[in-house]
Amino acid sequence: MTDTHCPYCALQCAITLTVDETGGNRTVSVAPRDFPTNLGGLCQKGWTAATLLDHPDRLTTPLVRRDGALVPASWDEAYAVIIERVRRVQDESGRDAVAVFGGGGLTNEKAYLLGKFARLALGTSMIDYNGRFCMSSAAAAGNRAFGLDRGLPFPLADLGGADAVLLAGSNLAATMPPAVRHLASIRERGGLIAIDPRRSETARLTDDGAGIHLRNLPGSDLAVLLGLLQVIIAEDRCDEDYLASRTTGWPRVRAAAAQWWPERVERASGVPADALRQAARLLAAASPARGGAGAYLLTGRGAEQHAHGTDTVTAVINLALALGLPGRAGSGYGAITGQGNGQGGREHGQKNDQLPGYRKITDHAAREHVASVWGVAPETIPGPGVPAVQLLRSLGTPGGPRALFVHGANPVISGPDAQVITERLAALDLLVVCDFFRSETAELADVVLPVTQWAEETGTMTSLEGRVLRRRRAVPPPEGVRDELRVLADLAGRLGCRADFPTDPDAVLAELGRASAGGIADYGGITPERLDRGEALHWPCPADDHPGTPRLFAERFATPDGRAAMIAVEPAPVDDDLRPDAPIYLITGRVLQQYQSGAQTRRVAALNRVQGSGFVELHPRLARRLEVAEGELVRVRSARGEACAPARISADLRPDVVFMPFHFPGQERANTLTNPTTDPVSGMPEFKVCAVEVTKIKEA
Ligand code: SF4
Repeated sequence: MTDTHCPYCALQCAITLTVDETGGNRTVSVAPRDFPTNLGGLCQKGWTAATLLDHPDRLTTPLVRRDGALVPASWDEAYAVIIERVRRVQDESGRDAVAVFGGGGLTNEKAYLLGKFARLALGTSMIDYNGRFCMSSAAAAGNRAFGLDRGLPFPLADLGGADAVLLAGSNLAATMPPAVRHLASIRERGGLIAIDPRRSETARLTDDGAGIHLRNLPGSDLAVLLGLLQVIIAEDRCDEDYLASRTTGWPRVRAAAAQWWPERVERASGVPADALRQAARLLAAASPARGGAGAYLLTGRGAEQHAHGTDTVTAVINLALALGLPGRAGSGYGAITGQGNGQGGREHGQKNDQLPGYRKITDHAAREHVASVWGVAPETIPGPGVPAVQLLRSLGTPGGPRALFVHGANPVISGPDAQVITERLAALDLLVVCDFFRSETAELADVVLPVTQWAEETGTMTSLEGRVLRRRRAVPPPEGVRDELRVLADLAGRLGCRADFPTDPDAVLAELGRASAGGIADYGGITPERLDRGEALHWPCPADDHPGTPRLFAERFATPDGRAAMIAVEPAPVDDDLRPDAPIYLITGRVLQQYQSGAQTRRVAALNRVQGSGFVELHPRLARRLEVAEGELVRVRSARGEACAPARISADLRPDVVFMPFHFPGQERANTLTNPTTDPVSGMPEFKVCAVEVTKIKEA
């Protein structure tokens, strides 16, 4: 029996794997373990995760494209193709002609080594990762306000002690169902507030007096948040002592919010003014400054995945600060990280502008420190590259990268305006994909390298609460498959890189600890031995005798003056109207049974039996207007392209909104429609609001 964690989302539910090889047939079974985040629970994805290990689609040999088809090759042959083309492309077009695209599901060790590989072995500045599509707006807003970005700066279990929790754009009940257990006492007290255009599984948790659902027009979250703040200001419910002692910028924030009285917000968002007042009063009553037990304000992708996502999260943070919540026991602001290692994945150098330890790549002292750990001169480390959307859309264009390495990502499904990304990937001189299945991105590759997956490898993951967890090997990988640490070391050696690329994950963690030491995300005191002893180590954990930091900001924020920076923000119009006279907006999201691009979960029959294909959810009134019945095919068209899927009729949506899950390929690919416009601060695309036309597909 091996204790480890689920391979999917950032809740990182604790599980025990049991391997039975009776009769020569291997069976791996999953059982939940009691743990502070999942409280002994698992969702359907976790229960069925072992299916991935012996799946018939599993890649066990490298593939190389010959005469247009991917054919089996030896590792040496695959490496030879890669090295020859990387050298040719870089000789002809410079170091930045080769790019790297990483993933928020990679272990900390892989994420760290991938950043080192890009900057030292390839010498390129062109590295970014799929977390840009996931957490980047929350990360940017957290860094801007607090000087530090850790999804939850407190343990998830703290939620249970509060009187109120606001979820802005988070469908927790579908994405990480065990986490809902932490909301039980809040719901009993009627303290759950959900902001969501859709009556999602999570919004439904507010039914029967458990809370309030503020059902807004897509793209209007910022107006709703300003409206909540306006009520709190107008009714003199702010924590003025806290604002005076722990923040800067309050007067400008206060002045900007004062313009957003509830009736104006109702016109902008569709949220009734009375509901807004009720929600604001509920939050204020829960705040410790007014004698409440505490309140937590949490954001998810619904609020963050916008071209103004950083400002929307900033509005949530401003509201939390006005109520005196961050850094106070039993209260706070946090973002619910999505991908399995979405937190750790953004700390160790996969981001275009960062070095390990969550250090800025432009910071001279940070470059010197990391260079000393890597044994190179600081000027050897390239400067900042470009964020993901810009990177992917420049592939194969004049002056753009001509080769790309993809690790732990499937941008053909998950990227915005996905058909353009597909075309750009197809235009490359070399596309290398490391994966354990032939994902849609792997199908376009010139070389596919088969690598180990979760239960076949050792390493660490950092959960949504900044706690570092040990992933343990329970089964050997299939013959022919290699660990990505070894793949990076092999390639670095063949490229003539003299820097050390350890292949032992514990050695990589030790080096990561040295590289991150003194940085914001300091892993210096996190060791396999301590994790194996069951110590709950939340970063920063700078020394072997440091207990870790489960709660941040109690005394000061990580800004130069120790105060939280409040920044005045204003709503911006949705810049994507096909028909301004009668707009219909598409929102994309997730279903419980599928994870991210679906490359793994779409291969699990038990999950597909429940939800294995896409759909277009639409309101009965819209369905009547379009003369569409349940299950009939509808076409959804945006300025980028069109998708088709069966209709699912539901009053959970507003009549002017349609919903599509984004996990599915082909004509059901929702990201064919989405808008690649990005947030100027975070680089996040406009995933969550997209103007569309919807029509019934008439039978021939
Ligand atoms: Fe837990 Fe997330 Fe895995 Fe579901 S997918 S079992 S919520 S870690």
